Amino acid sequence: MKYVSTRGQADPVDFVTACLNGLAPDGGLYVPEEWPQIAPAVPNEPYVDVATRVISAMAGASIGADDVRAMCERAYASFSHPAVAPLVQTGTNAWLMELHHGPTLAFKDVAMQLIGQLYDHALTAKNAHLSVVCATSGDTGGAAAAAFAGLSSVSMTILHPHERIAPVQRLFMTTTGASNVQNLALHGDFDDCQAIVKDMFADKGFTAEVGLSGVNSINWMRIAAQSVYYATAQAALGPSTPIRFVVPSGNMGDAFAGYVAARCGLLGGGFEVLCAVNQNKALAELLADGVMRRTPAVATPSPAMDITVPSNFERLLFEAAGRNDSVVRDVYAAFAQAGETTLPETARGPLGCMGFSAASVTSDDILAEIARFQDETGWLICPHTAVGTFAAREAPETDAATVVLATAHAAKFPEIIEQAVGFAPDLPRRVADIDGNAEVFHTIPAEPLAVREAIATLAASAR
Ligand SMILES: *Cc1c(COP(=O)(O)O)cnc(C)c1O
Repeated sequence: MKYVSTRGQADPVDFVTACLNGLAPDGGLYVPEEWPQIAPAVPNEPYVDVATRVISAMAGASIGADDVRAMCERAYASFSHPAVAPLVQTGTNAWLMELHHGPTLAFKDVAMQLIGQLYDHALTAKNAHLSVVCATSGDTGGAAAAAFAGLSSVSMTILHPHERIAPVQRLFMTTTGASNVQNLALHGDFDDCQAIVKDMFADKGFTAEVGLSGVNSINWMRIAAQSVYYATAQAALGPSTPIRFVVPSGNMGDAFAGYVAARCGLLGGGFEVLCAVNQNKALAELLADGVMRRTPAVATPSPAMDITVPSNFERLLFEAAGRNDSVVRDVYAAFAQAGETTLPETARGPLGCMGFSAASVTSDDILAEIARFQDETGWLICPHTAVGTFAAREAPETDAATVVLATAHAAKFPEIIEQAVGFAPDLPRRVADIDGNAEVFHTIPAEPLAVREAIATLAASAR
């Protein structure tokens, strides 16, 4: 099993290298050279078994099957529901797939827990150590902290904008108590945090000195891990039942994972994904008009989806263009130059026939949907999930079963839920005492030097 870059100018690598690299050296995203064919999940097959089969097929010879199983077992032991991604029925032929049973109550845990295990496995085998850096404005930081806490092969530094993230989100990052995780609260905004990280990665000397690595939305492991729950949903609803998956989308990693599941033979009912986006609707415009446009992000009640250009669209484009990497290079070069480009007809035609569609939901509709969904079903959903359930409600009628991915727990967004239904939900019992835990974070200026010093100090302490 080799992984190639969507831009075609990087050497093919094995699974472990693709995951440790994140981005390919030519700026492209890794995809498998060929789609492995994997037997569909069977009803009641344990989640860890399905995950082991899927990740083993993706990993090929780069990790032994026993090691993959051990990683999956450890990763999903931290989930509070034995099914990991259970379906709950919310209508006659409608379900929510709950992806928020992980340690930080968001679907990012599903992939991040496995990434932590993979890094630890690969680095321990080589007796190596890395400094993983992550800038966050919300869910990713908490999921990364939970996944890497206590792993001796990794020093983790998380940057967040001081006093600009929700208190619940901050608590998940700052209360791990782990000596290998440090949190830096920068006097600046999220863009400052991201700019500092980007600048650090551009400095090859520093990158080598501390063994710098990143975990972000384009890591192949994220896509691989997320394809597993599409397979278990198909098994639960019947091996050939047509399903319309409705996926609250930002960078489109989750939606693309559905496509991967289908290509690997895991979806016997065919493939249909409706990408539900908020008022940041670049993805909807891309799919409908074939136009990629850089527009400023607007703040919505679903912040994890306030994304302008969905990074995983590059993988979709590569597929639509018949895996012609020069089409991908041209599109992204034109976009980098002009901030806007129209996809060539050779890609647009196929793109329309791949099973993807998109719908955009306004902020007012998100709040109204949270209240309406609770009235109708008794379930309290998070503002990201509400984008999905609203889009599902408005979509053309279908005979397919509708499965909306519930991407976070409502209790992570108490202010918005209170606005919608008049009260703030309690955190689940297993994390309810989080606000009693000691928080550790360092407030520093938004200056590259201060951040580098903190990272170098932590890396030195691990040696
Ligand atoms: C990250 C995130 C999303 C968007 O997922 P993508 O893979 O970026 O499309 C949706 N909902 C929540 C709660 C998230 O954290």
